[in-house]
Amino acid sequence: MRDLAVGEADWSFQYGSEIVYFAVRRQPLRRNSSINIHVEPEGNVLVDAPADASRASILAAVRKRSRWIQGHVSAFLRRREHVLPREYVSGESFMYLGRRYRLKVIAGESAEVSVKLRGGHLELRLANPLRQMVREATKGWIRDRARKVFADRLDAVLADLNWRLPAPTMRLQAMNAQWGSCSPSGRLTLNPWLVKAPRDCIDYVILHELCHLKEHNHSRRFYRLLDKNMPPWRSRKKRLDELAEVILNM
Ligand SMILES: [Zn+2]
Repeated sequence: MRDLAVGEADWSFQYGSEIVYFAVRRQPLRRNSSINIHVEPEGNVLVDAPADASRASILAAVRKRSRWIQGHVSAFLRRREHVLPREYVSGESFMYLGRRYRLKVIAGESAEVSVKLRGGHLELRLANPLRQMVREATKGWIRDRARKVFADRLDAVLADLNWRLPAPTMRLQAMNAQWGSCSPSGRLTLNPWLVKAPRDCIDYVILHELCHLKEHNHSRRFYRLLDKNMPPWRSRKKRLDELAEVILNM
């Protein structure tokens, strides 16, 4: 498993015969800070701990929830078994904004690459339709769409917020283990592959990151803010978790 830890030694615990690795993200000190454990949809285990929490206290907190963590990680591994690697050939299914399309790869005459949605197809026309070329063309199209769709959704989510916020800047960054993040200075980073998810899941991720501009960790206040601004966020998150393997399979 990829280690997302920053400057920490290896973290792991043993559960039965298995070793489960996790990453620790040190959080700035604030009142009521506690150790929070998340299992990302991709199976990575992340632990948010106050900057001054000792190694022993982090390990104790993680061990206490080891059964829950291991359950989530193995559920992820079971789901992944059913996802085959992408081939980038005609007929393969492809998700965009929560809808399924089929790839249609056409050997074009001109050197120019064209990618468009047509009917139920994502049609790619390129002179040299080798798998790697099709993959690159698809990725380029995803980035273009993501830039446009995320800007629109960010505007929509900002308009519905019940607190005022200067419009953050946004950038795209392909990530294997995260949908998005935000910096304290207000820069939003979003994973372009998220554009494959339904709009309301995209809105959830954007709102989640905007809430972090106000509440920097996953405190109770953070979830209250989410609840207030998007009452059904839990079902959207659940839907996104279920789609993660398909969406992040590139
Ligand atoms: Zn978060």
